[in-house]
Amino acid sequence: MQVLVVGAGVVGLAIARTAARRGHDVVVAETTGGIGNGVSSRNSEVVHAGIYYPTGSLRAHHSTRGRRMLYEFCAAHGVAHNKCGKLIVATDADELAKVESLIAQGNANGVEGLELIGGNAARALEAELFCIGALSSPESGIIDSHGYMLALWGELEDCGGAIAFETPVESMSFAAPHWHVQFGGRDAGVVTFDAVVNSAGLGAQALARRIDGYPGGKVPPLVLAKGNYFGFAGKPVFSRLIYPTPVDGGLGVHVTLDLAGRMRFGPDVEWIDHESYTVDPHRADSFYDRIRSYWPGVPAGSLVPDYCGIRPKLSGPGEKQADFMIAGEAAHGLPRLVCLFGIESPGLTSSLSLAEEVVDRLAA
Ligand SMILES: Cc1cc2nc3c(=O)[nH]c(=O)nc-3n(C[C@H](O)[C@H](O)[C@H](O)COP(=O)(O)OP(=O)(O)OC[C@H]3O[C@@H](n4cnc5c(N)ncnc54)[C@H](O)[C@@H]3O)c2cc1C
Repeated sequence: MQVLVVGAGVVGLAIARTAARRGHDVVVAETTGGIGNGVSSRNSEVVHAGIYYPTGSLRAHHSTRGRRMLYEFCAAHGVAHNKCGKLIVATDADELAKVESLIAQGNANGVEGLELIGGNAARALEAELFCIGALSSPESGIIDSHGYMLALWGELEDCGGAIAFETPVESMSFAAPHWHVQFGGRDAGVVTFDAVVNSAGLGAQALARRIDGYPGGKVPPLVLAKGNYFGFAGKPVFSRLIYPTPVDGGLGVHVTLDLAGRMRFGPDVEWIDHESYTVDPHRADSFYDRIRSYWPGVPAGSLVPDYCGIRPKLSGPGEKQADFMIAGEAAHGLPRLVCLFGIESPGLTSSLSLAEEVVDRLAA
């Protein structure tokens, strides 16, 4: 099939690479001038083990399976990563109960190696940490996400696929047997394809509304949840990922590390109604409070505004967390079209597994 993938983020690239490896003729259309310029360049770069998500959900299935596939891909393609492990820490009895329920959840999801350790054992691993107990997750890690996307792009091209940059998809309609796709930008015009994947991240809903015949009631709401990060201006004190217990809409202000060992904190959850990428320095105040609960020694004045990302959520504050949505013909009635909505965390971790499901659905 001639397959169009809309969006050169990590998920679109993984889908394009998987489709090309299966012998399809693949083009990726991307509005911006490069790969990973959307949500994919504004995240924590954490390879999630798959602990938090309801058993049987797409997020649970694709994160656990995708994580195993991702480590294998990194090893095979020389993509920098570090399976550094993670501690989810409890600082009081209520949080300890939450941590225990997370272990049960992770075990039900098939996550390997989860263990409840005491406060002393946690401090033996991370001397600066305060907690009364912690969940140790040895399978969690970090990855050079840009290196990963470059490797996906390389494989796509090796299999004959290509990316058209500065080429927004404006609209499309199905007239059997083809999709007729209207492009803007430098390659403006109409091109036909056998199959289309809408992997446009924050733009997925807007694009779905411009697909002729796509039922309006089947386009889910887009809820924007900004996550702000603060860098740590000092010598790193932790060598693994340190997470508090999760909060409404996110995983809590955690310690993430980059591959050079530098520490940063975030993301928090800021519900917004339009895209904006400024980090308000005043949010540092609430960061100190939250970090101090598990790192009492965090020095005053050590946090500097860094970057932020926007989660393309399908549920809002106080609502039950929505799952990933993979909408195929059964959902919208249009042949050989798959739309992805709500691909927030753990989308990076899940990308290779999601890609297999999407390409299977195109061929079905
Ligand atoms: C704060 C934050 C932290 C996160 N942390 C993690 C983490 O640690 N681990 C993890 O696994 N996941 C994490 N995630 C989730 C992960 O980053 C996303 O799931 C993933 O990057 C989504 O990739 P994507 O390809 O779907 O979207 P994107 O990367 O946004 O790609 C979509 C692309 O489509 C393009 N586009 C849009 N409309 C059109 C159009 N009409 N025509 C052509 N192109 C178009 C855009 O320009 C963009 O490049 C995090 C997300 C956030 C926001």
